[in-house]
Amino acid sequence: MKKIKKMALIGLTCMTMLFGLAACGEKKDTGATAGGADTDSVQAGGAEAGGQIVFGTNAEFPPFEFVGGQGVIGQYDGIDMAIAKQIGTDIGKEATINNMEFDSLLLALQNGQVDAVIAGMTVTDERKEAVDFSIPYYSATQVMIVKEDSTIAKASDMADKKIVVIQGYTGETVVQELGYKYESFKKGTEAIMELTNGKCDVVVIDSATAEKYVKDNAGLKIVEDSDAFGNEEYAIAVKKGNTELLNQINSSIQKMLDDGTISELSAKYLDAE
Ligand code: GLN
Repeated sequence: MKKIKKMALIGLTCMTMLFGLAACGEKKDTGATAGGADTDSVQAGGAEAGGQIVFGTNAEFPPFEFVGGQGVIGQYDGIDMAIAKQIGTDIGKEATINNMEFDSLLLALQNGQVDAVIAGMTVTDERKEAVDFSIPYYSATQVMIVKEDSTIAKASDMADKKIVVIQGYTGETVVQELGYKYESFKKGTEAIMELTNGKCDVVVIDSATAEKYVKDNAGLKIVEDSDAFGNEEYAIAVKKGNTELLNQINSSIQKMLDDGTISELSAKYLDAE
């Protein structure tokens, strides 16, 4: 299988890092959770008690966020979780996770239930109307996951096939724009099960997550089509106008891009069994 590793080493000008311990941003307690959400926390380490930074995520998106035995923030593991923890350390706050449905994340941000959203979230014009995004930290694209013997070789081959997407993901938007009929599921694992059970022909989902699913499920392969699927960039979202927190997050991300932390995390979590 072809490896898809498009690391987002965005060559932005290196900013001077000014990580004071002065904890700014809002103080938060984790009592408030979105419907059906779990909150888990762990000391970000090192910093003096400066309150918490609550990250909203949807822990159904390996290798970025998933529930794992030995998580980096409580039970939550993955590239994004390690990034969130480091941001907490850098800004002198305890990073905590509020896990909820992907569709609820931006609303939770607007409602003040979470301070930031880290969820392998692609920056889109529509989302930019609702929230502010950090600098990007990862590049991805949509791909098709099919059975190994599938004849699907390009996006247009999906036209008369049973397509499955995940609700609210950019993969859904992309298939909508292509004008094809599809069925949507709430979780990537449910979509993959449809495919392995032969109930659909193709799942359209983000590249790194697809790579993980194909590695973990025998008999599947990835089909790319760069003409049909453009580049997407993942970034962290904050409430509109929260520039203080956004600047802190940007400094932390820039540092992790510059010192190779994000590349190392990507390699580690993509190669993990
Ligand atoms: N990158 C996709 C999106 O933003 C999927 C993200 C996710 O499922 N966590 O819609």
